[in-house]
Amino acid sequence: MDLPERTPVLFDTACVLGGSIAGLLAARVLADHARTVRIIERDEVNVEGRPRAGVPQDRQGHGLLPGGLAQIERWLPGFTREAQHLGGVLVGPDQQVVYLDDHRQVRSGNARILMGSRPFLESRIRTRVLALPNVSTLSAQATGLEYRNDAVSAVRYVADGVEHVMSVDFVVDAMGRASKLSEWVEQAGYDRPRLQRLRTGIDYATALFERSDKPDDLDLACALAQFSPPSSPDGLAVGAVNAIEGDQWLVMLMAYGDHQSSRSIEAFRSTCAKMPPIFGEAVSGPVSREILTYHQADSRRRDFAGLSRFPARLVSVGDAVASFNPVYGQGISSAALHASCLSEYLVGDPAFGMRAAEFFALQEVVVDAAWTISAGGDAARLDAIEGAEVPEDVQRQRWAMDQLIRATLVDETVAHAFSTVAFMLAHPFSLGDPALIEQAVAANQRA
Ligand SMILES: Cc1cc2nc3c(=O)[nH]c(=O)nc-3n(C[C@H](O)[C@H](O)[C@H](O)COP(=O)(O)OP(=O)(O)OC[C@H]3O[C@@H](n4cnc5c(N)ncnc54)[C@H](O)[C@@H]3O)c2cc1C
Repeated sequence: MDLPERTPVLFDTACVLGGSIAGLLAARVLADHARTVRIIERDEVNVEGRPRAGVPQDRQGHGLLPGGLAQIERWLPGFTREAQHLGGVLVGPDQQVVYLDDHRQVRSGNARILMGSRPFLESRIRTRVLALPNVSTLSAQATGLEYRNDAVSAVRYVADGVEHVMSVDFVVDAMGRASKLSEWVEQAGYDRPRLQRLRTGIDYATALFERSDKPDDLDLACALAQFSPPSSPDGLAVGAVNAIEGDQWLVMLMAYGDHQSSRSIEAFRSTCAKMPPIFGEAVSGPVSREILTYHQADSRRRDFAGLSRFPARLVSVGDAVASFNPVYGQGISSAALHASCLSEYLVGDPAFGMRAAEFFALQEVVVDAAWTISAGGDAARLDAIEGAEVPEDVQRQRWAMDQLIRATLVDETVAHAFSTVAFMLAHPFSLGDPALIEQAVAANQRA
Protein backbone atom coordinates (compact mmCIF):
# COMPACT_ATOMS: atom_id res chain seq x y z
CA MET A 1 0.00 0.00 0.00
CA ASP A 2 1.47 3.29 -1.10
CA LEU A 3 1.28 6.69 0.53
CA PRO A 4 -0.91 9.25 -1.26
CA GLU A 5 0.82 10.94 -4.20
CA ARG A 6 -0.71 14.34 -3.50
CA THR A 7 -0.95 15.76 0.02
CA PRO A 8 -2.17 19.39 -0.17
CA VAL A 9 -1.68 21.53 2.93
CA LEU A 10 -5.24 22.44 3.86
CA PHE A 11 -5.07 23.75 7.42
CA ASP A 12 -3.00 25.97 9.58
CA THR A 13 -3.87 24.12 12.81
CA ALA A 14 -5.50 20.70 13.12
CA CYS A 15 -6.33 19.38 16.57
CA VAL A 16 -6.78 15.78 17.73
CA LEU A 17 -8.68 15.17 20.99
CA GLY A 18 -7.26 12.06 22.67
CA GLY A 19 -3.68 10.87 22.19
CA SER A 20 -4.10 7.12 22.24
CA ILE A 21 -3.71 4.83 19.23
CA ALA A 22 -6.58 6.20 17.09
CA GLY A 23 -5.59 9.81 17.86
CA LEU A 24 -1.92 9.22 17.08
CA LEU A 25 -2.68 7.58 13.73
CA ALA A 26 -5.08 10.40 12.80
CA ALA A 27 -2.33 12.89 13.74
CA ARG A 28 0.06 11.07 11.41
CA VAL A 29 -2.35 11.59 8.50
CA LEU A 30 -3.08 15.21 9.46
CA ALA A 31 0.65 15.96 9.57
CA ASP A 32 0.54 15.81 5.73
CA HIS A 33 -2.25 18.38 5.54
CA ALA A 34 -1.73 20.88 8.38
CA ARG A 35 1.11 23.20 9.28
CA THR A 36 0.64 22.29 12.95
CA VAL A 37 -1.03 19.28 14.53
CA ARG A 38 -1.81 19.51 18.26
CA ILE A 39 -2.85 16.39 20.17
CA ILE A 40 -4.73 17.13 23.40
CA GLU A 41 -4.34 14.23 25.85
CA ARG A 42 -5.43 14.33 29.49
CA ASP A 43 -3.00 11.63 30.66
CA GLU A 44 0.63 12.32 31.09
CA VAL A 45 1.92 10.22 28.22
CA ASN A 46 5.21 8.43 28.32
CA VAL A 47 7.40 6.93 25.69
CA GLU A 48 8.52 4.09 27.97
CA GLY A 49 5.15 2.44 27.56
CA ARG A 50 3.88 2.42 31.14
CA PRO A 51 0.15 1.70 31.66
CA ARG A 52 -1.99 4.82 32.18
CA ALA A 53 -5.39 5.78 33.62
CA GLY A 54 -7.08 6.97 30.39
CA VAL A 55 -6.76 3.52 28.80
CA PRO A 56 -7.87 1.06 31.50
CA GLN A 57 -7.86 -1.80 28.97
CA ASP A 58 -4.12 -1.48 28.41
CA ARG A 59 -3.24 -4.12 31.06
CA GLN A 60 -5.07 -6.73 28.98
CA GLY A 61 -3.61 -8.56 25.99
CA HIS A 62 -3.64 -6.77 22.63
CA GLY A 63 -2.58 -8.30 19.32
CA LEU A 64 -2.15 -6.29 16.15
CA LEU A 65 -4.01 -8.06 13.33
CA PRO A 66 -2.37 -8.22 9.87
CA GLY A 67 -4.98 -5.80 8.42
CA GLY A 68 -4.09 -3.11 10.95
CA LEU A 69 -0.37 -3.85 10.84
CA ALA A 70 -0.36 -3.30 7.06
CA GLN A 71 -2.04 0.10 7.53
CA ILE A 72 0.34 1.15 10.31
CA GLU A 73 3.30 0.05 8.23
CA ARG A 74 1.89 2.18 5.42
CA TRP A 75 1.74 5.32 7.58
CA LEU A 76 4.88 4.60 9.61
CA PRO A 77 7.23 2.70 7.25
CA GLY A 78 9.63 0.42 9.12
CA PHE A 79 7.32 0.26 12.18
CA THR A 80 7.27 -3.56 12.29
CA ARG A 81 11.04 -3.92 12.13
CA GLU A 82 11.53 -1.29 14.84
CA ALA A 83 8.97 -2.96 17.11
CA GLN A 84 10.70 -6.32 16.58
CA HIS A 85 14.07 -4.76 17.33
CA LEU A 86 12.71 -3.59 20.70
CA GLY A 87 11.25 -6.96 21.62
CA GLY A 88 7.86 -7.09 19.82
CA VAL A 89 7.17 -10.57 18.44
CA LEU A 90 6.17 -10.95 14.79
CA VAL A 91 4.33 -14.24 14.64
CA GLY A 92 4.42 -16.05 11.31
CA PRO A 93 1.78 -18.55 10.15
CA ASP A 94 3.75 -21.55 11.45
CA GLN A 95 3.84 -20.13 14.97
CA GLN A 96 0.15 -19.30 15.39
CA VAL A 97 -2.74 -21.64 15.98
CA VAL A 98 -6.48 -21.40 16.60
CA TYR A 99 -8.24 -24.19 18.47
CA LEU A 100 -12.00 -24.74 18.35
CA ASP A 101 -12.91 -26.97 21.28
CA ASP A 102 -9.40 -28.47 21.26
CA HIS A 103 -9.38 -29.12 17.48
CA ARG A 104 -6.77 -27.22 15.49
CA GLN A 105 -7.75 -25.00 12.59
CA VAL A 106 -5.96 -25.76 9.31
CA ARG A 107 -2.92 -23.54 8.77
CA SER A 108 -3.45 -21.09 5.95
CA GLY A 109 -1.94 -18.07 4.23
CA ASN A 110 1.17 -16.23 5.30
CA ALA A 111 -0.20 -13.33 7.34
CA ARG A 112 1.76 -12.22 10.38
CA ILE A 113 0.49 -10.86 13.68
CA LEU A 114 2.53 -8.41 15.78
CA MET A 115 2.48 -9.23 19.48
CA GLY A 116 3.42 -6.89 22.28
CA SER A 117 1.77 -5.47 25.36
CA ARG A 118 -0.70 -2.68 24.65
CA PRO A 119 1.55 0.02 26.28
CA PHE A 120 4.44 -1.26 24.15
CA LEU A 121 2.50 -1.02 20.87
CA GLU A 122 1.12 2.41 21.76
CA SER A 123 4.52 3.76 22.75
CA ARG A 124 6.08 2.56 19.47
CA ILE A 125 3.38 4.42 17.51
CA ARG A 126 3.70 7.52 19.71
CA THR A 127 7.48 7.67 19.30
CA ARG A 128 7.15 7.66 15.52
CA VAL A 129 4.28 10.15 15.31
CA LEU A 130 5.78 12.65 17.76
CA ALA A 131 9.04 12.53 15.80
CA LEU A 132 7.22 14.38 12.98
CA PRO A 133 8.30 18.03 13.16
CA ASN A 134 4.78 19.50 13.05
CA VAL A 135 3.09 17.19 15.59
CA SER A 136 3.08 17.82 19.36
CA THR A 137 1.10 16.85 22.45
CA LEU A 138 -0.59 19.20 24.87
CA SER A 139 -1.19 17.79 28.34
CA ALA A 140 -4.76 18.96 28.98
CA GLN A 141 -8.39 17.92 29.18
CA ALA A 142 -10.56 18.87 26.21
CA THR A 143 -13.80 20.38 27.53
CA GLY A 144 -15.75 21.57 24.47
CA LEU A 145 -15.85 23.09 21.01
CA GLU A 146 -16.73 26.48 19.53
CA TYR A 147 -18.40 26.99 16.17
CA ARG A 148 -18.56 29.60 13.42
CA ASN A 149 -20.74 29.33 10.25
CA ASP A 150 -21.71 25.74 11.16
CA ALA A 151 -18.08 24.65 11.33
CA VAL A 152 -15.83 23.97 14.33
CA SER A 153 -13.62 27.00 14.90
CA ALA A 154 -11.98 26.40 18.29
CA VAL A 155 -11.32 23.81 21.01
CA ARG A 156 -11.75 24.55 24.71
CA TYR A 157 -9.43 22.78 27.11
CA VAL A 158 -8.25 22.92 30.70
CA ALA A 159 -4.55 22.76 31.51
CA ASP A 160 -3.25 23.14 35.09
CA GLY A 161 -6.74 24.17 36.21
CA VAL A 162 -6.99 27.05 33.72
CA GLU A 163 -9.43 27.07 30.78
CA HIS A 164 -7.98 27.96 27.35
CA VAL A 165 -9.35 28.29 23.84
CA MET A 166 -7.36 27.22 20.77
CA SER A 167 -8.40 28.37 17.29
CA VAL A 168 -8.41 25.40 14.91
CA ASP A 169 -9.23 24.59 11.30
CA PHE A 170 -10.05 20.90 11.72
CA VAL A 171 -10.80 18.64 14.72
CA VAL A 172 -10.60 14.87 15.17
CA ASP A 173 -12.36 13.30 18.16
CA ALA A 174 -10.35 10.28 19.33
CA MET A 175 -11.52 10.29 22.96
CA GLY A 176 -12.37 6.59 23.07
CA ARG A 177 -15.64 4.82 23.80
CA ALA A 178 -16.65 7.31 26.51
CA SER A 179 -16.11 10.34 24.22
CA LYS A 180 -18.24 13.35 25.18
CA LEU A 181 -18.48 14.64 21.60
CA SER A 182 -22.13 13.58 21.22
CA GLU A 183 -23.15 15.72 24.22
CA TRP A 184 -21.09 18.67 23.02
CA VAL A 185 -22.62 18.80 19.53
CA GLU A 186 -26.14 18.23 20.87
CA GLN A 187 -25.75 21.12 23.33
CA ALA A 188 -24.75 23.32 20.40
CA GLY A 189 -27.97 22.42 18.53
CA TYR A 190 -26.62 19.75 16.15
CA ASP A 191 -27.76 16.13 15.73
CA ARG A 192 -26.56 13.67 18.32
CA PRO A 193 -25.28 10.44 16.68
CA ARG A 194 -27.48 7.44 17.48
CA LEU A 195 -25.72 5.10 19.91
CA GLN A 196 -26.21 1.38 19.33
CA ARG A 197 -25.25 -1.00 22.13
CA LEU A 198 -25.02 -4.78 22.15
CA ARG A 199 -24.51 -6.61 25.44
CA THR A 200 -21.24 -8.55 25.65
CA GLY A 201 -20.73 -8.95 29.41
CA ILE A 202 -17.20 -10.21 28.85
CA ASP A 203 -14.81 -10.73 31.67
CA TYR A 204 -11.03 -10.67 31.01
CA ALA A 205 -8.25 -11.90 33.28
CA THR A 206 -4.65 -11.45 32.12
CA ALA A 207 -1.36 -12.46 33.76
CA LEU A 208 2.25 -12.42 32.58
CA PHE A 209 4.75 -15.27 32.97
CA GLU A 210 8.45 -15.46 32.26
CA ARG A 211 9.21 -17.17 28.95
CA SER A 212 12.45 -19.02 29.32
CA ASP A 213 12.09 -21.67 26.62
CA LYS A 214 9.70 -22.13 23.79
CA PRO A 215 7.32 -25.06 24.32
CA ASP A 216 9.10 -28.16 22.98
CA ASP A 217 6.19 -29.83 21.34
CA LEU A 218 4.75 -26.86 19.47
CA ASP A 219 7.09 -24.16 18.34
CA LEU A 220 4.30 -21.62 18.88
CA ALA A 221 4.24 -17.96 19.82
CA CYS A 222 0.51 -17.29 19.74
CA ALA A 223 -2.52 -19.46 20.35
CA LEU A 224 -6.23 -18.76 20.60
CA ALA A 225 -8.62 -21.37 21.98
CA GLN A 226 -12.39 -20.98 21.72
CA PHE A 227 -14.79 -23.21 23.59
CA SER A 228 -18.49 -23.90 23.34
CA PRO A 229 -20.35 -24.70 26.57
CA PRO A 230 -20.22 -28.48 27.03
CA SER A 231 -16.48 -28.64 26.45
CA SER A 232 -15.39 -25.33 28.02
CA PRO A 233 -12.96 -25.72 30.91
CA ASP A 234 -14.26 -23.92 34.04
CA GLY A 235 -16.87 -21.98 32.01
CA LEU A 236 -14.22 -20.35 29.84
CA ALA A 237 -15.24 -18.95 26.42
CA VAL A 238 -11.83 -18.02 25.01
CA GLY A 239 -8.20 -18.34 26.09
CA ALA A 240 -5.20 -16.76 24.42
CA VAL A 241 -1.47 -16.97 24.91
CA ASN A 242 0.90 -14.51 23.23
CA ALA A 243 4.66 -14.18 23.29
CA ILE A 244 5.42 -10.50 24.01
CA GLU A 245 8.36 -8.18 24.61
CA GLY A 246 10.67 -8.85 27.55
CA ASP A 247 10.59 -12.65 26.99
CA GLN A 248 7.19 -13.00 28.57
CA TRP A 249 4.03 -14.96 27.93
CA LEU A 250 0.87 -12.92 28.17
CA VAL A 251 -1.97 -15.29 29.03
CA MET A 252 -5.62 -14.21 28.89
CA LEU A 253 -8.73 -16.09 29.97
CA MET A 254 -12.12 -14.72 28.93
CA ALA A 255 -15.62 -15.69 30.04
CA TYR A 256 -19.15 -14.38 29.46
CA GLY A 257 -22.03 -13.69 31.79
CA ASP A 258 -21.91 -15.10 35.31
CA HIS A 259 -18.72 -17.04 34.72
CA GLN A 260 -15.69 -15.16 35.95
CA SER A 261 -12.28 -15.92 34.59
CA SER A 262 -9.89 -17.34 37.18
CA ARG A 263 -8.92 -14.81 39.83
CA SER A 264 -5.96 -16.56 41.51
CA ILE A 265 -2.77 -17.81 39.88
CA GLU A 266 -3.52 -21.27 41.22
CA ALA A 267 -6.97 -21.34 39.56
CA PHE A 268 -5.48 -19.76 36.43
CA ARG A 269 -2.89 -22.54 36.15
CA SER A 270 -5.46 -25.21 36.85
CA THR A 271 -7.75 -23.93 34.04
CA CYS A 272 -4.80 -23.69 31.62
CA ALA A 273 -3.86 -27.30 32.39
CA LYS A 274 -7.23 -28.35 30.90
CA MET A 275 -6.48 -26.53 27.63
CA PRO A 276 -4.17 -27.29 24.66
CA PRO A 277 -0.56 -27.93 25.82
CA ILE A 278 0.86 -24.48 25.06
CA PHE A 279 -1.37 -22.95 27.76
CA GLY A 280 -0.09 -25.25 30.49
CA GLU A 281 3.49 -24.68 29.36
CA ALA A 282 3.15 -20.89 29.18
CA VAL A 283 1.90 -20.63 32.79
CA SER A 284 4.51 -23.03 34.18
CA GLY A 285 7.22 -20.36 34.56
CA PRO A 286 7.50 -17.71 37.28
CA VAL A 287 4.76 -15.06 37.35
CA SER A 288 6.08 -11.70 36.12
CA ARG A 289 2.83 -9.81 36.67
CA GLU A 290 -0.15 -10.93 38.74
CA ILE A 291 -3.67 -11.29 37.31
CA LEU A 292 -5.44 -8.08 36.30
CA THR A 293 -9.09 -8.10 35.27
CA TYR A 294 -11.33 -6.04 33.02
CA HIS A 295 -15.06 -6.18 32.40
CA GLN A 296 -16.71 -4.88 29.25
CA ALA A 297 -20.49 -4.60 29.38
CA ASP A 298 -21.25 -3.90 25.73
CA SER A 299 -20.09 -3.25 22.18
CA ARG A 300 -20.99 0.23 20.94
CA ARG A 301 -21.23 2.12 17.70
CA ARG A 302 -22.27 5.68 16.96
CA ASP A 303 -23.94 6.46 13.67
CA PHE A 304 -22.21 9.57 12.29
CA ALA A 305 -22.92 8.63 8.67
CA GLY A 306 -26.68 8.98 9.13
CA LEU A 307 -26.63 12.54 10.54
CA SER A 308 -27.96 15.50 8.62
CA ARG A 309 -27.08 18.40 10.96
CA PHE A 310 -23.48 18.08 12.12
CA PRO A 311 -20.66 20.67 12.26
CA ALA A 312 -18.22 20.91 9.36
CA ARG A 313 -14.47 20.37 9.96
CA LEU A 314 -15.16 17.72 12.60
CA VAL A 315 -14.75 13.92 12.48
CA SER A 316 -14.54 11.09 14.97
CA VAL A 317 -12.28 8.01 14.85
CA GLY A 318 -11.42 4.82 16.73
CA ASP A 319 -13.40 3.59 19.72
CA ALA A 320 -15.24 6.94 19.84
CA VAL A 321 -17.09 5.67 16.76
CA ALA A 322 -17.17 1.92 17.36
CA SER A 323 -15.83 -0.26 20.14
CA PHE A 324 -16.26 -3.98 19.63
CA ASN A 325 -16.19 -7.14 21.70
CA PRO A 326 -12.41 -7.20 22.36
CA VAL A 327 -12.15 -10.96 21.81
CA TYR A 328 -12.05 -10.27 18.06
CA GLY A 329 -9.01 -7.97 18.40
CA GLN A 330 -10.33 -5.43 15.88
CA GLY A 331 -9.89 -2.08 17.69
CA ILE A 332 -6.38 -1.00 16.67
CA SER A 333 -6.84 -2.23 13.11
CA SER A 334 -10.12 -0.32 12.86
CA ALA A 335 -8.39 2.83 14.13
CA ALA A 336 -5.66 2.38 11.50
CA LEU A 337 -8.28 1.96 8.75
CA HIS A 338 -10.08 5.10 10.00
CA ALA A 339 -6.80 6.99 9.56
CA SER A 340 -6.64 5.78 5.95
CA CYS A 341 -10.26 6.91 5.43
CA LEU A 342 -9.26 10.33 6.75
CA SER A 343 -6.42 10.51 4.24
CA GLU A 344 -8.73 9.45 1.40
CA TYR A 345 -11.16 12.18 2.43
CA LEU A 346 -8.52 14.92 2.69
CA VAL A 347 -6.86 14.19 -0.65
CA GLY A 348 -10.28 14.30 -2.35
CA ASP A 349 -10.69 18.10 -2.20
CA PRO A 350 -13.70 17.98 0.12
CA ALA A 351 -15.95 20.98 0.72
CA PHE A 352 -14.96 22.12 4.22
CA GLY A 353 -18.05 24.30 4.53
CA MET A 354 -20.18 21.17 4.95
CA ARG A 355 -20.15 18.20 7.36
CA ALA A 356 -17.59 15.54 6.41
CA ALA A 357 -20.18 13.24 4.81
CA GLU A 358 -17.65 11.59 2.45
CA PHE A 359 -15.41 10.70 5.39
CA PHE A 360 -18.22 9.20 7.44
CA ALA A 361 -19.41 7.18 4.41
CA LEU A 362 -15.94 5.66 3.94
CA GLN A 363 -15.60 4.99 7.65
CA GLU A 364 -19.01 3.31 7.78
CA VAL A 365 -17.73 0.57 5.45
CA VAL A 366 -14.92 -0.20 7.92
CA VAL A 367 -17.23 -0.07 10.95
CA ASP A 368 -19.86 -2.28 9.28
CA ALA A 369 -17.27 -4.87 8.35
CA ALA A 370 -15.90 -5.18 11.89
CA TRP A 371 -19.37 -4.99 13.47
CA THR A 372 -20.66 -7.79 11.19
CA ILE A 373 -18.04 -10.14 12.59
CA SER A 374 -18.11 -9.26 16.30
CA ALA A 375 -21.76 -8.28 16.80
CA GLY A 376 -22.92 -11.13 14.55
CA GLY A 377 -21.25 -13.68 16.84
CA ASP A 378 -22.51 -11.97 20.01
CA ALA A 379 -26.11 -11.68 18.80
CA ALA A 380 -26.15 -15.41 17.92
CA ARG A 381 -24.81 -16.29 21.39
CA LEU A 382 -27.36 -14.07 23.17
CA ASP A 383 -30.26 -15.39 21.07
CA ALA A 384 -29.27 -18.96 21.92
CA ILE A 385 -29.12 -18.14 25.67
CA GLU A 386 -32.44 -16.30 25.64
CA GLY A 387 -34.19 -18.75 23.27
CA ALA A 388 -35.10 -15.81 21.02
CA GLU A 389 -37.12 -16.26 17.86
CA VAL A 390 -34.71 -15.72 14.96
CA PRO A 391 -35.91 -14.60 11.49
CA GLU A 392 -35.34 -17.14 8.72
CA ASP A 393 -32.80 -15.09 6.77
CA VAL A 394 -30.71 -14.61 9.92
CA GLN A 395 -30.96 -18.34 10.65
CA ARG A 396 -29.63 -19.05 7.15
CA GLN A 397 -26.72 -16.63 7.59
CA ARG A 398 -25.83 -18.19 10.94
CA TRP A 399 -26.02 -21.69 9.50
CA ALA A 400 -23.64 -20.64 6.69
CA MET A 401 -21.24 -19.04 9.18
CA ASP A 402 -21.31 -22.17 11.31
CA GLN A 403 -20.51 -24.32 8.27
CA LEU A 404 -17.58 -22.04 7.38
CA ILE A 405 -16.20 -22.06 10.93
CA ARG A 406 -16.41 -25.85 11.20
CA ALA A 407 -14.76 -26.23 7.79
CA THR A 408 -11.75 -24.18 8.97
CA LEU A 409 -10.74 -27.37 10.82
CA VAL A 410 -10.50 -29.44 7.63
CA ASP A 411 -10.33 -27.27 4.50
CA GLU A 412 -7.42 -25.01 3.64
CA THR A 413 -9.34 -22.77 1.18
CA VAL A 414 -12.11 -22.09 3.67
CA ALA A 415 -9.62 -21.57 6.51
CA HIS A 416 -7.73 -19.06 4.37
CA ALA A 417 -10.90 -17.15 3.37
CA PHE A 418 -12.05 -17.08 6.98
CA SER A 419 -8.75 -15.94 8.48
CA THR A 420 -8.40 -13.22 5.83
CA VAL A 421 -11.65 -11.72 7.10
CA ALA A 422 -10.86 -12.30 10.78
CA PHE A 423 -7.48 -10.58 10.21
CA MET A 424 -9.29 -7.57 8.65
CA LEU A 425 -7.60 -8.06 5.29
CA ALA A 426 -10.90 -8.67 3.48
CA HIS A 427 -14.52 -7.61 3.88
CA PRO A 428 -16.89 -10.19 5.43
CA PHE A 429 -18.97 -10.04 2.21
CA SER A 430 -16.33 -12.36 0.74
CA LEU A 431 -17.59 -15.13 3.05
CA GLY A 432 -21.04 -14.92 1.44
CA ASP A 433 -19.71 -16.46 -1.80
CA PRO A 434 -22.06 -19.45 -2.48
CA ALA A 435 -19.19 -21.53 -3.95
CA LEU A 436 -17.22 -21.10 -0.71
CA ILE A 437 -20.19 -22.11 1.42
CA GLU A 438 -20.78 -25.18 -0.79
CA GLN A 439 -17.12 -26.12 -0.41
CA ALA A 440 -17.44 -25.76 3.37
CA VAL A 441 -20.57 -27.95 3.50
CA ALA A 442 -18.91 -30.63 1.35
CA ALA A 443 -15.74 -30.55 3.47
CA ASN A 444 -17.78 -30.91 6.67
CA GLN A 445 -19.75 -33.83 5.22
CA ARG A 446 -16.51 -35.62 4.24
CA ALA A 447 -15.07 -34.95 7.69
C1 LIG B 1 -9.92 -5.93 27.13
C2 LIG B 1 -9.62 -5.36 25.79
C3 LIG B 1 -8.79 -6.05 24.91
C4 LIG B 1 -8.55 -5.54 23.64
N1 LIG B 1 -7.76 -6.25 22.80
C5 LIG B 1 -7.49 -5.76 21.57
C6 LIG B 1 -6.64 -6.48 20.67
O1 LIG B 1 -6.15 -7.58 20.95
N2 LIG B 1 -6.38 -5.91 19.45
C7 LIG B 1 -6.94 -4.70 19.08
O2 LIG B 1 -6.68 -4.25 17.97
N3 LIG B 1 -7.74 -4.01 19.91
C8 LIG B 1 -8.04 -4.50 21.13
N4 LIG B 1 -8.84 -3.77 21.98
C9 LIG B 1 -9.39 -2.45 21.53
C10 LIG B 1 -8.35 -1.33 21.69
O3 LIG B 1 -7.99 -1.19 23.04
C11 LIG B 1 -8.90 0.02 21.16
O4 LIG B 1 -9.70 -0.19 20.06
C12 LIG B 1 -7.74 0.93 20.78
O5 LIG B 1 -7.06 1.27 21.93
C13 LIG B 1 -8.13 2.22 20.07
O6 LIG B 1 -8.66 3.06 20.97
P1 LIG B 1 -8.78 4.63 20.84
O7 LIG B 1 -7.48 5.28 20.60
O8 LIG B 1 -9.91 4.92 19.93
O9 LIG B 1 -9.30 4.95 22.32
P2 LIG B 1 -8.57 4.73 23.71
O10 LIG B 1 -7.40 3.85 23.58
O11 LIG B 1 -9.62 4.35 24.67
O12 LIG B 1 -8.02 6.19 24.05
C14 LIG B 1 -8.82 7.32 24.27
C15 LIG B 1 -7.86 8.44 24.69
O13 LIG B 1 -8.57 9.66 24.82
C16 LIG B 1 -8.13 10.32 25.99
N5 LIG B 1 -9.21 11.23 26.40
C17 LIG B 1 -10.50 10.92 26.67
N6 LIG B 1 -11.21 12.01 26.96
C18 LIG B 1 -10.35 13.05 26.86
C19 LIG B 1 -10.50 14.48 27.04
N7 LIG B 1 -11.68 15.03 27.36
N8 LIG B 1 -9.40 15.25 26.85
C20 LIG B 1 -8.19 14.72 26.50
N9 LIG B 1 -8.00 13.40 26.33
C21 LIG B 1 -9.07 12.58 26.50
C22 LIG B 1 -7.85 9.18 26.98
O14 LIG B 1 -7.01 9.57 28.02
C23 LIG B 1 -7.20 8.16 26.04
O15 LIG B 1 -5.83 8.38 25.92
C24 LIG B 1 -9.13 -4.29 23.24
C25 LIG B 1 -9.97 -3.59 24.11
C26 LIG B 1 -10.23 -4.14 25.36
C27 LIG B 1 -11.19 -3.41 26.26
